[in-house]
Amino acid sequence: MPHQQHPQLDPRSPLVLETRDLPRRPGALHAVSRRVPAPDDLGLELIGVPQGAELDLRLRMESVSEGVLVSGTVTGPLVGECGRCLRPISDTLDVPIQEFYAYVHSTTDETTDEDEVGRLQGDLIDLEPALRDAVVLSLAANPVCREDCPGLCPDCGVPLDELPEGHSHEQLDPRWAALSQIKTSEE
Ligand SMILES: [Zn+2]
Ligand SMILES: [Zn+2]
Repeated sequence: MPHQQHPQLDPRSPLVLETRDLPRRPGALHAVSRRVPAPDDLGLELIGVPQGAELDLRLRMESVSEGVLVSGTVTGPLVGECGRCLRPISDTLDVPIQEFYAYVHSTTDETTDEDEVGRLQGDLIDLEPALRDAVVLSLAANPVCREDCPGLCPDCGVPLDELPEGHSHEQLDPRWAALSQIKTSEE
């Protein structure tokens, strides 16, 4: 399969790792610690890292026989919205990251597809796809402000835990009242 063309990586880009100084000898290690601005769209619809927020990367690059293994953690702020009550959530992201990047022309490079195994591009590693995967996989598609968040009153839209106990809406028509009781007991 022919190699895909990559846009040229910029070695100064915050999410590009430079491996030129890492000896190509299995076991050679470099620690990389950096603070980078979060790229845009880092997250899911209801929760994610705000664009430009500070991400802390604590990584190590390790030479292995066919390439470079990058592993470590990513931490940063998370903001979102509770999927039940819609109130804002703020949380901390703290996820492990681990990705292997094959040397160009290594056996791995020649025998695997690029979407299976990452590749070095010259001496450079584009960390962004692995970062996105690690962050997105760690997030809940339906984040909640707390496990037992009761959500909103279906009638007035106010968060139920901000309303007095037994909060209800007088129904003029008893058939509506019966319906709303069915609805409540289904939940
Ligand atoms: Zn909530
Ligand atoms: Zn209500």
